[in-house]
Amino acid sequence: MEAATLAWYRTNGRILPWRVTQDPYAILVSEVMLQQTQVARVLARWPLWMTQWPTVESLARASLAEVIVAWSGLGYNRRAVALHRTCGVIADVGFPTTYNGLLALPGIGPYTAAAVACIAFGEQRIPEDVNVRRIAERANGGAPFVAPDGLAGELTQALFDLGATVCIARRPRCHACPLAGVCPTAGQTFAPARRQAPFAGSTRQRRGALLRRLGAGGLAVAEVDEVIAAGLVRDGLAAVADGRITLPAR
Ligand code: SF4
Repeated sequence: MEAATLAWYRTNGRILPWRVTQDPYAILVSEVMLQQTQVARVLARWPLWMTQWPTVESLARASLAEVIVAWSGLGYNRRAVALHRTCGVIADVGFPTTYNGLLALPGIGPYTAAAVACIAFGEQRIPEDVNVRRIAERANGGAPFVAPDGLAGELTQALFDLGATVCIARRPRCHACPLAGVCPTAGQTFAPARRQAPFAGSTRQRRGALLRRLGAGGLAVAEVDEVIAAGLVRDGLAAVADGRITLPAR
């Protein structure tokens, strides 16, 4: 099953700029962006980010306000705060090269640690995102995939692509799947996933709108939505002083 997935990937894998580098910082940035943002949007933003801050040290030197402004539009802005914090620590102590070392960093969870460990450093570990879990449940009875020696990073990318383009949520494209011959659920369709709440009018949208206003300059606290402002301050995305709310200085 793993061999068939790898063979499929070598012909059908997506060509993405963060796949042609072994730079762990570049891979870390891509993985953090990709967690909750579509690939097409990350494709437009990752190169700009890497031009603005090509190294861990350059990102660590940036102000948090600059980082939040640059993240605008990618959504879930707490990721920008966490990435900035993580890179501040890496700039001081060096880049950990193992899953356990990465997991010990502030702002890095098990998924990101596993992704960077296997893709950048060749650790034998497959990170499980929603796509990887879905393929394992459908094709492998829920058992995790096991990478051949030295190929965990490549198998991870292969599973990401298979889940994103073939073994998709509702109507998988089994006719194009390298696992169709062995997959017990080949040909099935699946119940629709829970509908996402509309973005328009949501807290997420209002948080993003206020952050964009703050990117243009501070505001009087009395002018802004109190609950939204409090949430941004709590998440380290804004600061309040002397009756004004601004992006944080550091
Ligand atoms: S055969 Fe169909 S259900 Fe099975 S892994 Fe492939 S795409 Fe998914």
